[in-house]
Amino acid sequence: MITFGPVPSRRLGRSLGINNIPPKICTYSCAYCQLGRTIKMQVERRVFYEPDQVLRDVHDKVEKAKEAGEAIDYLTFVPDGEPTLDINLGREIELLRPLGIKIGVICNSSLIGREDVREDLLGADWVSLKMDATQRERWRKIDRPHGALRLDSILDGALEFARAFRGELVTETMLVEGINDDDDQIRDVAGFLARLKPATAYLAIPTRPPAEEWVHAPDEQVINRAYQILCETVERVEYLIGYEGNAFAFTGDVEQDLLSITSVHPMREDAVGEFLARAKADWPVVHNLVEQGQLVETAYEGRRFYLRKLHRN
Ligand code: SF4
Repeated sequence: MITFGPVPSRRLGRSLGINNIPPKICTYSCAYCQLGRTIKMQVERRVFYEPDQVLRDVHDKVEKAKEAGEAIDYLTFVPDGEPTLDINLGREIELLRPLGIKIGVICNSSLIGREDVREDLLGADWVSLKMDATQRERWRKIDRPHGALRLDSILDGALEFARAFRGELVTETMLVEGINDDDDQIRDVAGFLARLKPATAYLAIPTRPPAEEWVHAPDEQVINRAYQILCETVERVEYLIGYEGNAFAFTGDVEQDLLSITSVHPMREDAVGEFLARAKADWPVVHNLVEQGQLVETAYEGRRFYLRKLHRN
């Protein structure tokens, strides 16, 4: 099946996924990949499916969703591999345009140094670029790129793309304990993002079984530090940690609302205090959530923060 969904996505509303690459062909073999190790690594772009077939599949799904009264906010290229390996990506985006639904692409940035890839992505409305590391050794360890790829070309290509792109550009940085979660690397990524100027920089951690057993999420204190460092240079930073269901859902239930907000970003102690005052609630609510292990208290530069518990027990 080339299409799947529509599925709820925190970033894109209801998204119809387009799987334009057979599993699992990629330019990277990320240590944290939830699809396991890459079966076929390649950097040459080629034909995987005929663009007409992709259009037919998407068209059918859109029609079925319409009949069922289901809305679709985005058609999203999010395959079991790297979507820009598809040499027809630009053509497919063109063919999908008349459906009148916004188009997103979640890519790993590895081929963004190529002009034809940038051209293809310019046709989308929303593009997510993976930015796990900006230092070569870290990049090699975490993303395990194909030997022909060069980090400099990727970073330059991303900047060039950002200058030309008129849609919404976001980035995604996966934090892996001991690889790219130290202040030095995070500050480096933050410096690069300051130049790239994404609308939102998303911070992710491995929440599903990774390709390699040694991959672990950093603890909440480290994640909070990374968040605060990125906030110094990027206007908007959010977590992307898989609580798709209830993020942003203001229910009027104080506990649920605190968990929703802190699943997107940490809350400073004073912000929690204001929130509690507005909700006519008190600190025991917060202390209970901490005791139950749902909320974590941590400190950064002398201030206290509250985060949703991010690790699976
Ligand atoms: S880029 Fe995506 S699909 Fe490719 S190895 Fe990394 S996580 Fe997996």
